[in-house]
Amino acid sequence: MIVGVPKESFPGERRVALVPSVVPSLNKAGLEVVIEQGAGREAGYPDAAYSEKGVKILPDRAAVFEEADIIAQVLCYGSNDRTGRADLPLMRPDQVLIGFLRPLGSREVVEEIAGKQVTSFAVEMMPRTTRAQSMDALSSMATACGYKAVLIAADRLPKFFPMLTTAAGTITPSRVLIIGVGVAGLQAIATARRLGAVVSAYDLRPVVKEQVQSLGARFVELPIEAKEAQDARGYARAQDEAFYAKQRELLGRVVAESDVVITTAVVPGKRAPVLVTTDMVRGMAPGSVIVDLAAERGGNCELTRAGETVVDGGVTIIGQINLASTVPYHASSLYARNVTAFLLHLTKDGKINLKLDDEITRETLLTRGGEIVNARVREFFSLPALAAQA
Ligand code: NAD
Repeated sequence: MIVGVPKESFPGERRVALVPSVVPSLNKAGLEVVIEQGAGREAGYPDAAYSEKGVKILPDRAAVFEEADIIAQVLCYGSNDRTGRADLPLMRPDQVLIGFLRPLGSREVVEEIAGKQVTSFAVEMMPRTTRAQSMDALSSMATACGYKAVLIAADRLPKFFPMLTTAAGTITPSRVLIIGVGVAGLQAIATARRLGAVVSAYDLRPVVKEQVQSLGARFVELPIEAKEAQDARGYARAQDEAFYAKQRELLGRVVAESDVVITTAVVPGKRAPVLVTTDMVRGMAPGSVIVDLAAERGGNCELTRAGETVVDGGVTIIGQINLASTVPYHASSLYARNVTAFLLHLTKDGKINLKLDDEITRETLLTRGGEIVNARVREFFSLPALAAQA
């Protein structure tokens, strides 16, 4: 079978779904690779690097969709809400599509994809299990985002991060607060610590306390307890407005004492909770910086504007989206390894081998044979359950 990689079309997107180094393992499994000319250029992988691995370079996107049995993308239609729709007429029945599809985004869009009769797999739905760890693209991208958020904050902050002892006197270290300690939050803690900041972190899931402390940060304990903070998959559960109001009240003092706040708090399928209000921003010292990694999901800060930088009372609130794309070489390399592990899981002797009794296959499979087949997505969109499929 042939795996095709089109050039990413979302404006400003620099990543690519497969990098040259993964090609030999795909070939060994009986999968050939073709790419659209220039697909990896922005990420630091020129066409020649692919050709050296025996990859065929095709002149345009249409040729990739025509030749490939499997299309691997980073942002497919669904997550690419700007230019992704142009791919619909290129899709062929039973073609396999792998990438970020935003399965809990818009029902109409997922139905449009289903209507093309493609067998699509949404990498966002990958189970967070040990067995699926090597295929977990969300974690890979969150790692890139958490790292970059700290660098952006450090660049914007009018202060040093580390403590410095100089002939001109001693500089005290900056104080960084991370709200939401999932994969991105943990990477943000580690990066801010490497830069020498004094780091605190808070999450409504108390189980992360030890992880925070093991990275040398202080865990902020608030005298409120979330109801069933974590679901079976390890994600935070949505709380009621009274809980969020209490959280904001208690977080106010910690936020006011911080030079940098990085927020990453999200709940699957829901708008991100507002944890930093306008009043809390006004309580921060001028020059302070907030980087809101939840910007695309509505933002954790009341003043966040997705894709924009807002300055209020001297405090900068950065709502930049798609941060993983700003570290495209390594973000692509990690993503390519995730996709490769997933492809090896989905195929046998170079052919797609769909085993729906397998959790990884079943949970990521979004559309097939003209329908949305994912049970979780059907439930989310209040569609009737389908009879069990073989
Ligand atoms: P996420 O992106 O869904 O959320 C980010 C963080 O925000 C989470 O830690 C969440 O608890 C927190 N949050 C949500 N609402 C909040 C609120 N009101 N106040 C404070 N914090 C709030 O998280 P993620 O990075 O996708 O990780 C989700 C879970 O999956 C974690 O338990 C993580 O350890 C786990 N995980 C497991 C594996 C694996 O086993 N293979 C891989 C990756 C992640």
